[in-house]
Amino acid sequence: MAELKTFQGGIHPPYNKELASGKAIKPAPIPSEVVIHLQQHVGAPCEPLVKEGDRVEVGQKIGEAQAFVSAPVHASVSGVVKAITEVPNFTGAKVRSVVITPDATQPEFQKKPGKDLESLTAEEIREIAKEAGLVGMGGAAFPTHVKITPPSDKPIDTVIINACECEPFLTCDHRLLLERTDDLIAGARLLKTAVGASRVIIGVEANKMDAVDALRSRASSYRDVEVEVLEVKYPEGAEKMLIFALTGRKVPPGKLPSEVGCLVQNVGTAVALYEAAAWGKPLYERVVTVTGPGVREPANLLARVGTPVSVLLEACGGLVGNPVKLIMGGPMTGWTQPDAKTPVVKGTSGVVVLTSEMVDLGEESECVRCGKCVEVCPMFLSPNFIVQSTKRGQWDRAEMWGALDCFECGCCSYQCPAYIPHVQYVRKAKAEIAARKKK
Ligand code: SF4
Ligand code: SF4
Repeated sequence: MAELKTFQGGIHPPYNKELASGKAIKPAPIPSEVVIHLQQHVGAPCEPLVKEGDRVEVGQKIGEAQAFVSAPVHASVSGVVKAITEVPNFTGAKVRSVVITPDATQPEFQKKPGKDLESLTAEEIREIAKEAGLVGMGGAAFPTHVKITPPSDKPIDTVIINACECEPFLTCDHRLLLERTDDLIAGARLLKTAVGASRVIIGVEANKMDAVDALRSRASSYRDVEVEVLEVKYPEGAEKMLIFALTGRKVPPGKLPSEVGCLVQNVGTAVALYEAAAWGKPLYERVVTVTGPGVREPANLLARVGTPVSVLLEACGGLVGNPVKLIMGGPMTGWTQPDAKTPVVKGTSGVVVLTSEMVDLGEESECVRCGKCVEVCPMFLSPNFIVQSTKRGQWDRAEMWGALDCFECGCCSYQCPAYIPHVQYVRKAKAEIAARKKK
């Protein structure tokens, strides 16, 4: 077998996908209350369009974007606005949110009369993405209409669909690849039109060969869609790694994929763009993988935005074993939660519960200069020196060692025998460097 495409560096953590990969997507219960943050994307927060006591219908816009880099938010249920108040999001930051008490029965989503997708212009697709509140659903939550408006001097020739799902445990994209194959391809081709590219490449890791077969069989009708198989390695789905693996192009430090003629979008986002264009459906629900050894019956749930994690866990039969860590997102880049109250946002790909047997709570000690962090860093940085500079408050040196180029994949910490939490140091260095640049 030919060598699979990949990048340099990276790690092979236990993937544990089998817990949920065979579970078909099913709807999550409607909670007794949804909490919809007015900022759940990169960029400016929304201003509420509703007030306490208002009736709202599912899909109604309830928060308007106030800047180009922002995305409107929509009611995920029909019901009554209970409050507009500050609620902690998955990072712990308090954000203004619309709290809705859902009606006892929820209407089925009514598809709008279908549009001829082939006739949509780039401008129309960007407007659809904007009005539907689309954001990157792989976790980054960058507004899609901004991403598909590349600078005029940076022509895009290739749209890459990141179907790697390289984070351990998560399977929501895998299920979409299997269950929404045609819609994904249609969404990917809309992205292609939006940026004026000539081809789409769907990159899938080799641990999802059933999805590769499904995609290849459906994509064979399109000359502009290719399906490529990639090595199973973390972080294969990171933008710069994926672009290099699939095209051999290197995005320079500090630059965006448009610098090398590429646009990378996540599977969920492409499907959501299809739903917005073909059905007039805004982004108010998403597939969330609820899994881990601490979850009784792992599942892939179609959850309304604003649903508390506790409701998803209950829908999966509750907790089992000795659960010690609840993570929103995957275990490599997700956020540990203090409790299960946190509401689902557009970027929530998973809820993972780890048990004591899986969590190595070693204490941070001094660097032993083994060089393992350098070996695995896919950005070719020296994470050990970034840590050292940060500990000493030497911000210029931290920047020189590439703190700003680190995209916080966590490979370095994963390999470190001294249990050094490199990403925490990098985040501190980034904040200090940014603060000093503002002065
Ligand atoms: S330094 Fe940053 S990019 Fe490099 S391995 Fe560590 S977290 Fe990943
Ligand atoms: S992996 Fe840890 S101990 Fe080894 S060089 Fe890097 S920081 Fe030091």
